[in-house]
Amino acid sequence: MKRIKIIGGGLAGPEAALQAAAQGCLVDLYEMRPTRSTEAHQTSDFAELVCSNSLKSESENTAPWLLKQEMRQAGSFLLREADATAVPAGHALAVDRVLFSQRVATLLESNPKITIHREEVTTLEESDPDTITILASGPLTSPALAAELQRLTGADHLAFYDSISPIVDATTIDMEKVYFAARYDKGTADYINCPFTKEEYDRFLDALTTAEALPAKSWEQIPTPDSRLTTHNSPVHYFEGCLPIEETARRGRDTLRFGPMKPVGLTDPKTGRWPYAVVQLRQENLRADSYNLVGFQNHLKFGEQKRVLSLIPGLENATFLRYGQIHRNTYIHAPSLLTETLQLRSHPTILIAGQLSGVEGYTESIASGMLAGRYAAALAQGLTPEPAPRQSANGSLSHYITHAESKRFQPANITFDLLPPLEEELRKKIRDKKERHKLQCDRALAAWNSWLATSPAAFRALPTTI
Ligand SMILES: Cc1cc2nc3c(=O)[nH]c(=O)nc-3n(C[C@H](O)[C@H](O)[C@H](O)COP(=O)(O)OP(=O)(O)OC[C@H]3O[C@@H](n4cnc5c(N)ncnc54)[C@H](O)[C@@H]3O)c2cc1C
Repeated sequence: MKRIKIIGGGLAGPEAALQAAAQGCLVDLYEMRPTRSTEAHQTSDFAELVCSNSLKSESENTAPWLLKQEMRQAGSFLLREADATAVPAGHALAVDRVLFSQRVATLLESNPKITIHREEVTTLEESDPDTITILASGPLTSPALAAELQRLTGADHLAFYDSISPIVDATTIDMEKVYFAARYDKGTADYINCPFTKEEYDRFLDALTTAEALPAKSWEQIPTPDSRLTTHNSPVHYFEGCLPIEETARRGRDTLRFGPMKPVGLTDPKTGRWPYAVVQLRQENLRADSYNLVGFQNHLKFGEQKRVLSLIPGLENATFLRYGQIHRNTYIHAPSLLTETLQLRSHPTILIAGQLSGVEGYTESIASGMLAGRYAAALAQGLTPEPAPRQSANGSLSHYITHAESKRFQPANITFDLLPPLEEELRKKIRDKKERHKLQCDRALAAWNSWLATSPAAFRALPTTI
């Protein structure tokens, strides 16, 4: 049987290691901390939660609950430790982070099939016939390893940044100037549209393209495949779908009007015509008390954002609850690189798990580690891994990262949008959203359990007491 090499002792890596070991495989787990740390980690612990301590909702029939239920039924080790170290947090599963990490460390260190190596991995041996590799080095993958991944996958297939759009307080939007509409009146009119005249657009564009950007922090410098070192002034690499708005604007005076500020099909009821350009605002939460500016991720100083975004008709006196930001997040272009069993298409003995694979969030990262560990174990035993079923939350996440629209690919949390919709007939019959979600959850759990029961040995649900 082949050995399994796992790079990364965060969330995905330890789960993968425990899963593969439980299937009888010998595992080498590599973690570079404390020899080398990242800009977010504070400790050298396994399974460190770098920011909040929440693994999201436990409310029945929500998407995060569904994902966790599936993981519990499949015997996720880290989720079991999360349950055991839960602290009161209303409807969410929040954990005592220190205890959680300690318990994961105990599981890893006491497992005779797992050998722990505290060292940075800087090379990937794609043609080693005796090893299956799981790369789970996370959003802050060390520069040398990122460069190595670029060598294997091509420079255009690794992103180093992720971006978020500004959010505005709904009560501060001037509703006299804006209007609700769906493009070409298709679907419900959920978006608020801020219409521009040509003069307003020109003024806005001038302000946007000359606004001051935030200086790059030292850790924002990009590793290059050639030098394996970070270099100053190298161009920041974004996927096309999530370019900062100021970058798009610099490509030509009409680029925004034909891109994120496209007015076609958005008839302004005041004029009966399409405006020159629009900014669309999308509801941020169910209470509809805040909206995000669609496609307006940016890297400008906060004061500059306030000045420039206040030139948008309707937002002159708006209160911004959050400004746009770009943050470090290394992830691969999974739609072109990965199979549904998380293997690199070009190098099938290398699997990618966790945030690096394009999932977003603690629970999602653990879930993808769980699958990767089992797929790797199957490969190590000469079996062909069978992907998680499309109807399940786990399968839907894998399906999203491997089938998302290529140009706009961005990491995703689990949501009902990723699950296949209910059949047309049922959708028409059941109007209540909660009821629909319950049906989607029932369907997902049925598919998941039948997959666990019938897949090859490597996928059998493990007893929860292992
Ligand atoms: C600053 C920040 C805050 C976040 N906050 C949240 C949050 O609040 N809630 C949430 O749900 N998600 C959050 N995330 C997103 C994500 O859920 C976490 O990053 C999560 O830890 C990802 O799990 P992972 O296993 O993929 O990566 P990680 O947990 O980061 O684990 C990767 C491990 O690989 C190690 N490593 C890296 N390179 C090498 C190498 N060359 N050799 C050996 N080891 C290496 C790292 O030291 C690290 O321990 C946050 C991300 C960041 C960057």
